[in-house]
Amino acid sequence: MAQAAAAEPTFRESVDLMFNRAVALMDLPPGLEQKIRVCNATYTVRFGVRLRGRIHTFTGYRSVHSEHLEPVKGGIRYALAVNQDEVEALAALMTYKCALVEAPFGGSKGGLCIDPREYDEEELERITRRFAYELIKRDLINPAQNVPAPDMGTSEREMAWIADQYNRMHTTDINARACVTGKPLNGGGIAGRVEATGRGVQFALREFFRHPEDVAAAGLDGGLEGKRVIVQGLGNVGFHAASFLCGEDGAKLTGIIERDGALYNPEGIDCHAVREWILRHGGVTGFPDATHSAEGAEVLEAECDILIPAALEGVIHRENAERIKAPLIIEAANGPVTAAADEILRRKGTIIIPDMYANAGGVTVSYFEWVKNLSHIRFGRLQRRQEEARHELILRELERLDHMLGDAWNLSPDFKKKYLRGADELELVRSGLDDTMRTAYQSMREVWHDREEVADLRTAAYLVSIERVAASYQAKGL
Ligand code: GLU
Repeated sequence: MAQAAAAEPTFRESVDLMFNRAVALMDLPPGLEQKIRVCNATYTVRFGVRLRGRIHTFTGYRSVHSEHLEPVKGGIRYALAVNQDEVEALAALMTYKCALVEAPFGGSKGGLCIDPREYDEEELERITRRFAYELIKRDLINPAQNVPAPDMGTSEREMAWIADQYNRMHTTDINARACVTGKPLNGGGIAGRVEATGRGVQFALREFFRHPEDVAAAGLDGGLEGKRVIVQGLGNVGFHAASFLCGEDGAKLTGIIERDGALYNPEGIDCHAVREWILRHGGVTGFPDATHSAEGAEVLEAECDILIPAALEGVIHRENAERIKAPLIIEAANGPVTAAADEILRRKGTIIIPDMYANAGGVTVSYFEWVKNLSHIRFGRLQRRQEEARHELILRELERLDHMLGDAWNLSPDFKKKYLRGADELELVRSGLDDTMRTAYQSMREVWHDREEVADLRTAAYLVSIERVAASYQAKGL
């Protein structure tokens, strides 16, 4: 077992192996393949923060994978396991992800080795501001050069601190707000960003199920209605994906794998109830409406139609890949399937909707936020006229509700205005994301079906991305 584990490639090696598989099918100018594959630079910082009467030293990273387009883009992760190999792999995936969904960014990623649960809010703010300071002064956070976003262990709260820190250090930069995305709505954020990655997973699956031929390739049929779904990791991405798929598309959540064990119920599990249980009790243990098993593996390997790994990288590896029964895996997390597992699953005929496509909803909506910040006008203001007709309809619907509910819910004109404003932005974000996910799937799918030597969606996704990055470098004259 130890021997087999040692043979498992690291995360970055895994990404490179998948990249190489695709590049072998391409005809790139000599040397360009290496230029694209390698990370341009990784900055490591160690800084001290005085907490609880002593100085604590923290280690953080910001890796820039490819600057064929600037700014470069990618989240900042807070986790104890963060290391250089991981941020470099994640930065590379950002490059390919942005290229695939045509978000005009290069790829980057950051991380801080910290368990955020060990610190209170005030301490986390001091640590975050200090980390941000180190990155800002080296232009590793900058609206024109490098724009972070939330990732595992961070949220809009940390993004607000980072934006404020940048603002303090660049008081005259009119574009300061665009230095980071995933900010709170009242701090320059955009409607729908929090749930964007989960929403993207839903749109990706909807698009997949629009193609009976692809569905059949996974040995499935029909639509999402009634499909049994298992989610690994009920964090921001896993929770929203499950909630949309079950609440809007009629899928059935039969299993959840979390840090402290797994839940299973063939009749379906209410993800909202589990989420609340986790918030109150710190884990899934004791949740009444499902069987609990301490061993997450049992549920990861259980029968289902769709498996959604939505937490860490490397959860499906060469040791367990053979036992995974799901015919369809959608990678809501980055790198949840190692290169070795990918090979085993491909041989088994499992269809994998790859990470760089499946979880691109986050960066897509980040792009909308960045554009909104730079334009200094409310997102969608220019499309306002086209929307006017739709507003009329919404207004009329509100009037009807108002009339129906009478005194019980007296809608003020102010509420209506606010409602319209909210609906406006959220509507635009959602339809923009939907378009993006459809178009990207089409481009990937075309390569998958049209080129005989391309046997899987991941290779197709890499081919599309690498071709675009290569074209960008060639246009620049490199
Ligand atoms: N952290 C997210 C990802 O891995 C979002 C990145 C972004 O919005 O820049 O895609």
